[in-house]
Amino acid sequence: EASLFEFIVPGRVRVFVRLRPRNTEEMMADADFADCIELQPELKRLKLRKNNWDSDTYEFDDVLTEFASQKRVYEVVAKPVVESVLDGYNGTVMAYGQTGTGKTFTLGQLWEEDTSDRGVMVRSMEDILADLSPITDSVTVSYLQLYMETIQDLLNPVNDNIPIVEDPRTGEVSLPGATVVEIRGQQSFLELLRVGEAHRVVANTKLNTESSRSHAILMVHVKRCVVESEDIVFSENDDTSHLTKPSKPLVRKSKLVVVDLAGSERLHKSGSEGHMLEEAKFINLSLSTLGKCINALAGNNTHVPFRDSKLTRLLKDSFGGTARTSLIVTVGPSPCHRGETSSTLLFGRRAM
Ligand code: ADP
Ligand code: MG
Repeated sequence: EASLFEFIVPGRVRVFVRLRPRNTEEMMADADFADCIELQPELKRLKLRKNNWDSDTYEFDDVLTEFASQKRVYEVVAKPVVESVLDGYNGTVMAYGQTGTGKTFTLGQLWEEDTSDRGVMVRSMEDILADLSPITDSVTVSYLQLYMETIQDLLNPVNDNIPIVEDPRTGEVSLPGATVVEIRGQQSFLELLRVGEAHRVVANTKLNTESSRSHAILMVHVKRCVVESEDIVFSENDDTSHLTKPSKPLVRKSKLVVVDLAGSERLHKSGSEGHMLEEAKFINLSLSTLGKCINALAGNNTHVPFRDSKLTRLLKDSFGGTARTSLIVTVGPSPCHRGETSSTLLFGRRAM
């Protein structure tokens, strides 16, 4: 099966939409409303109802209905990115949407007894571990929160202001001081995500905020030993004998970044005051800069304003260029949130 990435402009962000099924509350209100969204998966289209007569139509790279399984969502949105990371390219998978529409379910869902629920982070690690050689290759992770332009280490909360450093020669972005843990099996990875989540709750209680106001960032570094045979060397005096120099092993590095973005409704909460207003400004800065960077890449602009926010500075080497990027925008069915849903869809559309 040929990867879709073969046919697209390098650096373009692929954009998907996922509709969350109705929750219990929305089911109970069943009689009172019809979903404001109609999906046409065969056309990769979504219709958002404006009123009884009229609707707006949006097209995406793919449309995932409320019946799409976690497995299918992973396969459509993230697996091509993971495969290219295993081939040595950097990649990013991000979820954007209003709080409560399924960003964390899509990316961060772990599992207790039902493994079919597990999300993108867990499935990506599964595929990575299955593909690596435990003898010559390695995979390490860092788990971070970005809140009000400050990066906190979710694996060691003492590190609460991690700098972003870009190597001027290679363009490689690194986070000196962030905890890096080697992963040898799925169980230790799950344990680490649980520890990170617990630290996130504690940190946010201290800061008196909610996790929907920060970005959660999982960085997965893959190091593979690849053997590349060198050019064949011909002997000058005997043209029948040619030698191959012994091949030498090379270490190839790549990374996958998974970003559970802050709730997009914060972009519009201009009525807030004091601390809430400060939070809203920072979320606004990172999400709107992200949008500008994606648009610039889509329009083949030479200037991509990565430097304007920490989120985009962090993503700079795993976004655009040779990197593969998928953005999944999540929406709910309720007409009460029509306005937010509309702006979420517009963000996704502008990204293409
Ligand atoms: P967000 O991270 O965008 O705020 P969550 O992922 O926390 O949203 O989802 C809100 C609630 O809806 C959670 O209880 C979650 O389990 C549930 N949910 C979200 N998406 C789905 C889905 N596709 N299928 C079933 N439940 C879902
Ligand atoms: Mg969430």
